[in-house]
Amino acid sequence: MSEYKMWIAGKWVEAESGKTYPVFNPTTAAEIAQIPKGDKVDVDKAVAAAREALPHWSGKSQAERSQVGLKIAAILRENAKEIARLDTLEHGTPKHLAAMIAGDLAEWFEWNAYNARALMGNTVPQSPDELIYLQREPVGVVALITPWNLPLLMIIEKLAPALMVGNTCIIKPASINSLTALKLAELLDKLELPPGTVNVITGPGRVVGEALSSHPWVDMVAFTGSSDTGKRIMTLAGNTVKRLQLELGGKNPVIILDDANISQVAESMVGRQTFNCGQICASPGRYYIHQKVYAEFVEKFKQGMEKVVIGDPNDEKTQMGPLVSAEHRDRVQGYIKSATDEGASVILGGEKPLKPPLDKGFFVFPAIITNVTQKMKVAREEIFGPVAVIMEPFSSDEEVIKKANDNVYGLAANIWTQDAARGMRFANKIAAGTVTVGRTPGRDQDLPWGGFKESGIGKEHSVFGLYEYTNLKRIQVDLTLKK
Ligand code: NDP
Repeated sequence: MSEYKMWIAGKWVEAESGKTYPVFNPTTAAEIAQIPKGDKVDVDKAVAAAREALPHWSGKSQAERSQVGLKIAAILRENAKEIARLDTLEHGTPKHLAAMIAGDLAEWFEWNAYNARALMGNTVPQSPDELIYLQREPVGVVALITPWNLPLLMIIEKLAPALMVGNTCIIKPASINSLTALKLAELLDKLELPPGTVNVITGPGRVVGEALSSHPWVDMVAFTGSSDTGKRIMTLAGNTVKRLQLELGGKNPVIILDDANISQVAESMVGRQTFNCGQICASPGRYYIHQKVYAEFVEKFKQGMEKVVIGDPNDEKTQMGPLVSAEHRDRVQGYIKSATDEGASVILGGEKPLKPPLDKGFFVFPAIITNVTQKMKVAREEIFGPVAVIMEPFSSDEEVIKKANDNVYGLAANIWTQDAARGMRFANKIAAGTVTVGRTPGRDQDLPWGGFKESGIGKEHSVFGLYEYTNLKRIQVDLTLKK
């Protein structure tokens, strides 16, 4: 078992209180590390360090900052194997998937390093006697509060744009799996960043996260996590009117029309539903299937879900590892129970394995629930697990659009048809930040990501994501002024 420290002002420190807390391996339930349990005092130190570093980091030329970004990319690439090992250890990510995620991290820094150099201002030709120009400046000190579901990727997606446009950052990773965040700090420590440019502080969200969200010297909170926590952060940040970028939950409709290629859709959805054990904000949340293809889809999908290989994430053959914690597994199973209590049918899975070697870890078999109606809890709330929620079949396009929009979330929607025009009619009417027709959405640097309604505020990725971390300043100079 290892003991870890936090990284504040370029130094490795314990929590001022000296307290630590344990981290567990979700595959075996064994304790693997003790992590500093930071609190408000440690937050004050980290914010002061980030404030101090701000003029140094934001004062560098964009070319210099982008060079640093490319160095970070290189060091992430060199250490991808170790990052993947830690991801499997602390999150239970299957080995092949962990390698893929870790292998892609460098690209997020490369994309932002290059594109930050291409950001331009504008001039506004409003009057011949004035020079009016708009320039982008860093927002300032940014707190990055991130979830456990893809522990390091969720950090890098925020850190890369925030840092590349000149902000200083305080990372508050999820408590349940902070090891990859501390590994990142170890790698950044090797580079010559002004001390305090990036800080990593561990500890409970209700203490560290709240202290960051309400701190008067924090200019922006970039958060990914549940909508309930997002609302709490909005309240706390409201006192000092901080910039917010919020990537929150989803209950994503998958609409399968009567002309869809059912074998292809079923195969795609099996992968999608069990990817990262369903712990993905963009996971299918509700399946709406046309009555003409309902039976065929359910049958083929069930056959596919039965074949998913669950097991030790260190085994190359494993497709689905454990859920992140015992608490989360109980929550997922609680949703399945609520569905049967409300009259739905569980036609597959949902149990935990009782035999070794999987009995100790936080595993659950992929589940399918059918006969679900709009009002049931599993139709309204995000489950965040390998549980497919199949709604009652529909027969008209208008009816299903209404049902798909009848939810507080609006993150992503997925339409399956072989008719692009019909798919586009759906896309125009669905309230979601991303709608894909005939394919599933990916996390792509070039394309914006972010939800409508209670799924969030602002965008990540693409040039829109870079803009989130800048303030737009209007500068207006009277050219008739003479000395
Ligand atoms: P949580 O909201 O529970 O936690 C997210 C982060 O917030 C953690 O670091 C947590 O700390 C911290 N936190 C908890 N309470 C507070 C608080 N009161 N004030 C400030 N910070 C706090 O989310 P999960 O970690 O459970 O992640 C799952 C959620 O994330 C799902 O809803 C999922 O949809 C969403 N998500 C959204 C994505 C998107 O792109 N829209 C992408 C990925 C996930 P601690 O760990 O210590 O509790």
